[in-house]
Formats: sequence, C-alpha cells, structure tokens
Amino acid sequence: MFALRVIDTPKVEPATPPTSVRLSLTDRCDLACIYCRPDKKDGYFDEVLDLAAWKTMVNGLVQAGVRRVRLTGGEPLLHPHAVAMVAYLASLGLDDLALTTNATRLARLARPLREAGLHRINVSVDTLDAARFARMTRGGRLGRVLAGIEAARAVGFTSIKLNAVVVRGENDGEIEAIVRWCWERDIVPRLLEVMQIGEGAKLADRVVTAAEMRVRLAHLLEPHDGERETNRGPAKYVRARHDSAKRVGFITGTSDTYCKGCDRLRVASDGTLRPCLATNDGVAAGDIARSGDEAGIVAAIADAWAKKPDGDVWKGCTEDEAARVSIRSIGG
Ligand code: SAM
Repeated sequence: MFALRVIDTPKVEPATPPTSVRLSLTDRCDLACIYCRPDKKDGYFDEVLDLAAWKTMVNGLVQAGVRRVRLTGGEPLLHPHAVAMVAYLASLGLDDLALTTNATRLARLARPLREAGLHRINVSVDTLDAARFARMTRGGRLGRVLAGIEAARAVGFTSIKLNAVVVRGENDGEIEAIVRWCWERDIVPRLLEVMQIGEGAKLADRVVTAAEMRVRLAHLLEPHDGERETNRGPAKYVRARHDSAKRVGFITGTSDTYCKGCDRLRVASDGTLRPCLATNDGVAAGDIARSGDEAGIVAAIADAWAKKPDGDVWKGCTEDEAARVSIRSIGG
C-alpha cells in the first residue's frame, strides 16, 4: 500500500496509516519560550492555509483514517478562525478533539471553544512565579494565563492537563509546587524533559530527566513505573500515594525518545505534512489543499507516512538534524 522508505540499508514499511494528527493552525506565537525559539522575530511562513484550505486538509485526513486531532502551533488561539476550525472539526465526529495552548487568550475563548465542541485542553505553563514566567517566555504575563485556566474550568472543561517543561536552574525547584497547585484544581500536571529540538538543543546541560523528577517527587508518588493512557501520546502517568485519582504525567522526550510507537502525523500551517517532529522531512501539500483536492491530500498523506522514521534506526531528537527544526513551525 505504501512506498518503501530507505534508511541506511534496511527497508522499512510503515505499519499503519496515521490515526492521530496535530494541526499547527498557525506558526505565530505571542511568547518566545527559551527552549522553543530564540526570540519573537525569528520569522513566520509567508503563505499559510486559509480556512477553506484547512477544511480540505482535514477532510483528506479523515478520509485517510485520522480519528484524533489536536490543534497546536505556534499559538493556535492567535488564529482568527480558531473557534470556527474547532466547530468544523467537531462536526466530523472525531474520537478526540484537543487543543494545546499557552492560554494567553483562553479567558475570552474558553466558552466559545467549549460551545464549538472542543473536547479537551492542555495548557503549557512552566512556572507559577510571575517573574520567572516572564523570563522563561520572554515577556509573557502569568496572570493572563492563570485567568485562562480558570475560565476553562469555569465553562466545564474537565480533563485539563498542564504541561511544564522543566529546565535546570530555572523552574526545576518548583515541580512539587506545580504538582500540588494542579492537584488542588483537578488538573493533571505533566512534566516534560527539554527535548533536544531547535532551541532546546542548546539546553542539553539543563535537561532534568524524568528519572530525576521521580526521585524529587518520590514522597508524593507511588513507586511503580508509569502507565500510558490508550491513544493519548507518550506521557507515562504515576499515581499519588495519598489519592489514586491524582496523577503526574512524565514526558521523556530526551531520556527515552519514544519514537518507536509514534503514530502521529503533523500538518504545519503552510500545509506541509510532517511525519516527525524532529526532522524537517515532509511533503508539501499546501497547494493541493488550496485547490480543494481531497483525494490529492489522501495521496500526499500516504507519501508523508512513508517517510515516517521507524524509531529503530532514526531516534528523533537524539539526531543532530533535530537542532535545525522549529517546533513552533511544525506544531509541537
Ligand atoms: N503555543 C502552544 C503552547 O504553548 O502550548 C502550542 C505550541 S507549543 C510548541 C507545544 C508544546 O511544546 C508546549 O507544551 C511547549 O512547552 C512544548 N515545547 C516546545 N519546545 C520544546 C522543547 N524543546 N522541549 C520540550 N517541550 C517543548
């Protein structure tokens, strides 16, 4: 069904078509997190998909078998049609429709997003200290983000997750406080290793491994290995000692690149189909989307999926190429 891809000498055939996709609705972002981009002037795509082209793209993805969609970016809520996109996606009856956001615009958009049919929200917040937040995001205002989280809870989003990237010497002393803060609000905290991708590759000496985080949180958490949630990505969840309903997720993007089981495809906002977050390999499908050719998108998805690294030979962010990738452009 798919073309074979040559990696070194062995030939590898992708196992199954993609069922999970991350759409980078826009490569624009109002923050510049220290592990993500060098500053806010690092350049954006000249030409991006408009709403009609996104609909063609999404229709093609669904025809190709995609059942789970996450909107990301860049900052997806900067897109003028973010709510309309959610409404359109919701009308397709997907198994999962989720959003990853920095929440700077969530206070105003939480209700429209909920009414449009969004299932779940993940919010990225690395620190609960306003000065540190401003430093780690190069100018972000923590108050707006916290107001966004409160708005999401108030309008009825129940399975909110908070993603915190842990950077040694910056927020690593705060992980217990972040966990407790989340637990008090029925939010699931997830602690991420800095991935060696893009700007993150410059922070190799500041990675705190999940194993080290586990040691620091040992008094709070059950001692067993974490468990993955079915069809919910690479995070491994460990339960609290005092209350099995509370959990912490760990995402080991560096100490274990979990490439082997990855079933994700990404679509950048210029319409490029990206089989892997940590390589610039991809298939340009923007013009196909703009022409309204859904069958063409299905064919391009097969081409992109055939380029997916197998996780044995190519191990994502352990590769030098990953340092030249922009997570913001591809869709983190
Ligand atoms: N703007 C949205 C947000 O802030 O959640 C979505 C895009 S952002 C690129 C998606 C996620 O990627 C965020 O949780 C961010 O912290 C994470 N991220 C970006 N660069 C990273 C890196 N080098 N290592 C680990 N996580 C990273």
